[in-house]
Amino acid sequence: MTTAIAASLENVGLWIGGQSASGALPAIPVFNPSTGEAIATVANADVQQGIQAVDAAAAALPAWKATAPRDRAEVLRRCFEQMSRRADEIAELISKENGKTLADARSETSYAAEFFRWYSEEAVRAKGQISMSPTGSNRILAQYEPIGVAVLVTPWNFPAAMATRKIAPALAAGCTVVLKPATETPLTAYLIAECCRDAGVPDGVVNVLTTEQSGPVVSAMLHEDRVRALSFTGSTEVGRILLHESADNVLKTSMELGGNAPFLVFEDADLDEAVEGLMIAKMRNGGQACTAANRIYAHRSVADELGHRLAAKMGALVIGAGTDPSTGCGPLINEAAVNKVDNLVAAAVDDGAQILLGAIRPEGEGYFYPPTVLANVPSNSRIVREEIFGPVASIIPFDSETEAIDAANSTALGLSAYIYTRDLRRGLAVADRIESGMIAINQGLLSDPSAPFGGVKQSGLGREGSQDGMLEFMETKYIATKW
Ligand code: NAD
Repeated sequence: MTTAIAASLENVGLWIGGQSASGALPAIPVFNPSTGEAIATVANADVQQGIQAVDAAAAALPAWKATAPRDRAEVLRRCFEQMSRRADEIAELISKENGKTLADARSETSYAAEFFRWYSEEAVRAKGQISMSPTGSNRILAQYEPIGVAVLVTPWNFPAAMATRKIAPALAAGCTVVLKPATETPLTAYLIAECCRDAGVPDGVVNVLTTEQSGPVVSAMLHEDRVRALSFTGSTEVGRILLHESADNVLKTSMELGGNAPFLVFEDADLDEAVEGLMIAKMRNGGQACTAANRIYAHRSVADELGHRLAAKMGALVIGAGTDPSTGCGPLINEAAVNKVDNLVAAAVDDGAQILLGAIRPEGEGYFYPPTVLANVPSNSRIVREEIFGPVASIIPFDSETEAIDAANSTALGLSAYIYTRDLRRGLAVADRIESGMIAINQGLLSDPSAPFGGVKQSGLGREGSQDGMLEFMETKYIATKW
């Protein structure tokens, strides 16, 4: 691997067993969504190379598993330091290949690095349990062991954080990994591999492989006996396919899937705070976040006011290239994403929604869609039922608390939800009734490496971050003993 991927964005190779390797298939171009221009190519692995990456991870496993937790912790701490030292470079690269604003890229970089710090602290705390059997006949020892080689598959919307949210707990647990990042944003993953290498992660413990043949390559890896776990972040649709694939070898799976977050604004909410919260929950990454506020349910008495205040704030954002420091709203990831958002907005307007802001697709280079606010969106419109993944706020008025909760729960997804009310008792009571893995009350941001991140229903299985995230890469061994 070259030492400075970001400086020489050219043919980046696969990273297998501590060696850079060319891909067996024609290289994959990487585009800057702000301009539509190709900025680099990365290697394109075939199935055989996927298996070689598993070989490398399996070869590195015994030594890494046997490394003292304290030593693993110190390696992880140095990964955090490497990422922090190179934060500007990483943020710029994220912004270039993903299009997100520099401010968003910087906050992602710091969030991503924090997973290494958090799991460097957790690596020495994989505590088991000891108890007396209820009959008094023997003791029950339960201890945690690393599960083995893990395959990690990540999306393009948080190219750094989705990788470290998996690599850090896996390494803390004593596992070795093969990471397959999204082909839209592979450069950040290779740069993280470089930070790991420079931090002293042994060869073969972290392998990175890019491919345009995600289906066959990941499937082949999941059918290798030495692979014991899959951690996937991406759409529910692909998650479902990978759950089927994982069934054959009965793999442990962690699934962080799609969201369709409701954002509830009650009549007693502080509207300034609600708008601030929406600017984060809706506009972070230009709306391309699994936790993005997708359905804004506002009490009828405040819905108009909320819409106008939000339109004023969103309308003030400068649209431009992610890498331009003045930009407040960057491009979407590609043209297909712009088409999808445009179609959802057009369908909502056909259904009777009113445009308070935006909704006009700009001409010119790059994959831009303007900040858009829609009021009085009918609750059966597609934009309410599907993940928008763009800078479009849909406001749906409601009349009663029960109506709002029923609407919030009316989808098959349940990743995150937001509640705004000045009455904390009401907020907690509503939170109890919302079917969601994560709920924010009077705040627009949930992500925290020390908190359990994950969804219920078809938003996923398992949790990342917190102590739970490390257990996703461990198995419990029970030993019955008398002494
Ligand atoms: P995606 O499901 O299309 O792709 C995710 C990853 O899976 C990519 O690396 C892709 O190359 C790979 N992939 C695609 N088809 C595959 C196959 N058949 N076999 C193996 N791998 C395959 O998702 P995306 O468009 O990259 O990301 C957006 C989605 O991710 C949204 O639905 C979003 O909500 C979700 N997401 C969820 C979380 C979470 O924590 N729950 C976080 C970020 C994004």
